[in-house]
Amino acid sequence: MTKQLQAVRGMNDVLPADIGAWQYLERELRTLLWEYGYEEVRVPVVEHTELFRRSIGEHTDIVEKEMYTFTDTGGDSLTLRPEATAGIARAVISNGLLRGARLKLWTSGPMFRHERPQQGRFRQFHQFSVEAIGFPGPDVDAELIALGARLWRRLGISRVRLMINSLGTSAARAQYRTALLDYCRAHEGELDADSRRRLTGNPLRILDSKNPALRALIDGAPLLSDHLDAESRAHFSALRAILDGLGIAYVVNPRLVRGLDYYSHTVFEWVTDALGAQDAVCSGGRYDGLLSQLGGEATPGIGFALGVERVVTLIGQAGSAPAALAPGVYVIASGVRAEALAPQVAEQLREALPRVGVHVNLGGGSFKTQFRRADRSGACLALILGDAELERGVVAVKPLRREAGQSECVLAELGALVRKMLEEESWTST
Ligand code: ATP
Ligand code: MG
Repeated sequence: MTKQLQAVRGMNDVLPADIGAWQYLERELRTLLWEYGYEEVRVPVVEHTELFRRSIGEHTDIVEKEMYTFTDTGGDSLTLRPEATAGIARAVISNGLLRGARLKLWTSGPMFRHERPQQGRFRQFHQFSVEAIGFPGPDVDAELIALGARLWRRLGISRVRLMINSLGTSAARAQYRTALLDYCRAHEGELDADSRRRLTGNPLRILDSKNPALRALIDGAPLLSDHLDAESRAHFSALRAILDGLGIAYVVNPRLVRGLDYYSHTVFEWVTDALGAQDAVCSGGRYDGLLSQLGGEATPGIGFALGVERVVTLIGQAGSAPAALAPGVYVIASGVRAEALAPQVAEQLREALPRVGVHVNLGGGSFKTQFRRADRSGACLALILGDAELERGVVAVKPLRREAGQSECVLAELGALVRKMLEEESWTST
């Protein structure tokens, strides 16, 4: 027998049985993003490796060990995007959109990271990425958080909490870096290999380590919040005042540093206790240095990325996704003439009643078999084409969701009859 092929480890299929929650999330988010004035952009899944090295930073888990990087036949080093902010920043610069612009953008799609696959952690996963470029904040920082809070409410998800922190200006971080370095050097023996490497690269990243053995060491480290300058403090307290005014609850977590190098000022994370080891469902932060770091003119930016798979799991737990839409009509045909006519009648109905959903029995079968399929489709009505009825010039329509007799009409009046019967059955399309 031919060997069956498997999907790549950590890369999942989403089957029809599960697609409802995905589509629900996508629909609600698109609507919400429109309500808040964000526009969709689509950027490539593959970018030059250099882009991610320069934006995410050399001393991060992503760049050090998680990127899918390959050399294409032209000899270029390319990488499957591990996140979308870098690509959007690149797109804004390379399309000349920057020049003092105020851009509110979003994109969605697959991201790729070579991590150890486990529940809630995959090698191909999906994100919605929302970015506001050209706004120094903190009003826009609060707007992005409010959008998230509203999303959870719309989706009926209650087990999420908001954590916020400030990483301050780059000057404040530089000052803190010295204090942190002194502390880490004093405890160098307790560091793991990753952290020791980061001592010379980016010591702040040590605080983001997931190694439980470093927990105590990290807990004892000096706090960035003790090193914030006046400008950093003002930004952060203004953000908190807006959130307070909006009635959005948050926890200030001074240990929240986030995995990427490009963040400054506000960082935030929506976390849940409902997904086991994986707790982050939506993570974001301000990246005022990123655009200039990539060769654009200095422009502030802030954004967040939402992990679709994790939110889909929360939607499943909340049971809030609406049931799949059933068709209005299922067409059953028996007899040579009836079967030959069925495709035409179905097309005629779709023409007359767009969005009603007209499924046709395919591949023949007895009336009994066809009725069973009609029932399983969830259709509201069965349209029955039989040679004997066609002899008399009529077709029959029968409600499927309750005990009821069938009605007959001539073909020319079928659209009107189906419309009337769908109304009587209180059937609604989208
Ligand atoms: P984590 O702490 O879980 O590793 P992260 O800090 O690496 O997350 P980000 O890079 O900020 O995550 O990505 C934003 C969101 O994308 C996360 O909050 C999470 O919901 C989701 N996410 C990140 N990595 C994965 C993955 N490998 N599989 C599924 N979802 C992921
Ligand atoms: Mg990660």
